[in-house]
Amino acid sequence: MPRPIEALVHADALTHNLARVRARVPDARVWAVVKANAYGHGVERVFEPLRAADGFALLDLAEAQILRSLDWRGPILLLEGVFEPRDLELCSRLNLWHAVHQTQQIDWLAAHKTHQPHRVFLKMNSGMNRLGFTPTAFRSAWARLNALPQVDEISLMTHFSDADGPLGVARQVAAFELATQDLPGERSLSNSAALLRHAGLRTDWVRAGIALYGSAPDAPEHDSAHWGLQPTMTLRSRLIGLQQLQPGDQVGYGSRYTADRSLRIGIVACGYADGYPRHCGSGTPVLVDGVRCASVGRVSMDMLAVDLSPVPAAGLGSEVTLWGRGPQAGVLAIDEVAQAAGTIGYELMCALAARVPVGLG
Ligand SMILES: *Cc1c(COP(=O)(O)O)cnc(C)c1O
Repeated sequence: MPRPIEALVHADALTHNLARVRARVPDARVWAVVKANAYGHGVERVFEPLRAADGFALLDLAEAQILRSLDWRGPILLLEGVFEPRDLELCSRLNLWHAVHQTQQIDWLAAHKTHQPHRVFLKMNSGMNRLGFTPTAFRSAWARLNALPQVDEISLMTHFSDADGPLGVARQVAAFELATQDLPGERSLSNSAALLRHAGLRTDWVRAGIALYGSAPDAPEHDSAHWGLQPTMTLRSRLIGLQQLQPGDQVGYGSRYTADRSLRIGIVACGYADGYPRHCGSGTPVLVDGVRCASVGRVSMDMLAVDLSPVPAAGLGSEVTLWGRGPQAGVLAIDEVAQAAGTIGYELMCALAARVPVGLG
């Protein structure tokens, strides 16, 4: 028998979450963002459930090739654009749309030989200072692109730094609108946080990532249930050991947990080498046979320990849910585990380790 850990990807939840996104921004077209191997879920696994999206947005040409090999003929957008001139050949061949965020990419396009003019998304740095042309440089970049025979349609995009928090998007929206007011072309502004929290923004295309994967972009202010999202990934394992502790007994590396009473703990076949965060301290929620329990002590490479007090019937082989869907319709939100580790759901999904077998469930 293989080690009892596995991850499940829930196709029905992906489809549900896409419908929630659509309901939130009914007039916008939806890019399903599938970068980072679909946030750890696997591009091949999410493709069918997300097929009703208007396009797929990603970073790696290899991921774009996977989608074309799955016979996806619709739009594909390279969110960071091309990384070297040769990439443009593949864009022509596979009909990939690509972001243009810096001058060198325009130079490459100008030198590119193609019979198929490209659709590009010109990116503005509206305040985040990551990728894109400043509002002042934006118009001349647009004019240069517009003059190129290699370029067909130019869409306009920007990305928000604070759509999930109190700063909001108003300043960036104002900068974007001022610099683009008399430019033609479709607009793409919103990520998940913006489409959920600022649903009224004028944006022809939203770029939905984390919302499709059922994690709240603004946790813990709102949880995924608040936004009507369902978890799309379950990480589950089993109890492979049991220990009876007496008051004063300690657990795990560094003896970071000391029992203050007599209690039974279970040892779970899941550790940081599976992608479970080592930073989760004692008290992180874990479901055992669907019952909410708390971890005790440090997470080690292959194991972690759980206080079994709430579930006295649990024993060897009991099912343990680290995040996602429990056995009896219960849910343990990945965002709760992320919070206990001082991070966000995104990171946990993306960090699911290669040694964990993934199935559809
Ligand atoms: C990753 C990414 C997104 C999706 O962000 P979420 O917060 O997961 O919705 C949108 N736009 C760009 C440019 C991205 O890189």
